Order: sequence, then C-alpha cells, then structure tokens
Amino acid sequence: MRKAVYPGSFDPITNGHLDIVERASLLFDEVTVAVLTNPAKRPLLTLETRVRLIQEATAHLRNIQVDSFSGLLMDYAKRIGARAVVRGIRGVQDFDMEVNMAHMNRQLDEEVTTVFLAAKAEYSYISSSLVKDIAWHGGDMTRFVPDCVVVAVQSAVANH
Ligand code: ADP
Repeated sequence: MRKAVYPGSFDPITNGHLDIVERASLLFDEVTVAVLTNPAKRPLLTLETRVRLIQEATAHLRNIQVDSFSGLLMDYAKRIGARAVVRGIRGVQDFDMEVNMAHMNRQLDEEVTTVFLAAKAEYSYISSSLVKDIAWHGGDMTRFVPDCVVVAVQSAVANH
C-alpha cells in the first residue's frame, strides 16, 4: 500500500492544489490531504471549512482522504503510515523553501520521502493569497478555484 500525505494550509484549496491532488492520486494507492493548523498563521477560513471544501473538491477521486493535523509533519506522517510527502512546485519561488523543508524533514525521519510535483503550467501563478486578494476586492475568482470555494470565500470575506 503506497500511502502519501499532501500537507498545506489550503486557505482555500485552489485549482493548482487540485491538480496536484489529482496527479498524486494516480501515483499512490491512498493520498491524505492534510490541513495544517498553524497558530502562527491567521487563516481566512476555519479549519472545518477548509477541510469541507477539500472534501467537496476531491469528491470525484476514490483514493483521497482529508484530515487535519498540528505539530510536526513527520510525526503525523508516521502516525498515518505515509511514506511519502507530496509538495507542489510552481517555480523558483517555491524551490528553495521546499528543498530546505524536504532536507529538514529527512533529518527528522529518513524513511519518509518528499516527492515534488510540478504545477500545471496554466495554474503555476495561482496561490491562495492571490485568490484572497481578489476576493477582498470583489473580483472574479471562478477561474482559479473549484466552484464550491467561491461562495465560501466570498462569505468569509463579507463576514470578516
Ligand atoms: P503552505 O502554507 O504549506 O505552503 P499551501 O496551501 O500554500 O500551503 O500550499 C500547499 C502545497 O501546494 C505547497 O507545496 C505549494 O507549493 C503547493 N501549491 C500551492 N499553489 C499551487 C499551485 N498553483 N499549483 C501547484 N502547487 C501549488
């Protein structure tokens, strides 16, 4: 059983994230999309909403689970029996940070391997923060996120 974890903030999940999940679902028997609860970051969406949106956006995929975790990723990976960590790379802006993180995680647990998947070219400029910027200014984000995300982000912005 090849099990992987795809960790992130997913505030909110975007089409770029979804493409990585779809690719990963072809490579592994089971992929857990794991939302990190990081008290240092102040997310727009609650943890429950972020989890629900990922569940809805990935409902067409059979081997995807959605979960949340806090603390060290390597501890979480061990707990769920994942031997691979999936991360998406949009370009050089992600590279340094992601490679450093992979090295650090390898120091923590040699048995878990980080696998980088290249972002789909037309999604490589999409980030959760740009999507939120668009939402704050009342712009159209429909091309950048799954349908279920649009209403959730708009109402989170309206109620902020
Ligand atoms: P984090 O706070 O951990 O960076 P994100 O939710 O921003 O969480 O991203 C999670 C992962 O998805 C990271 O590996 C990031 O590089 C990747 N990612 C973000 N946006 C895209 C995109 N448009 N296409 C592909 N991968 C992406």
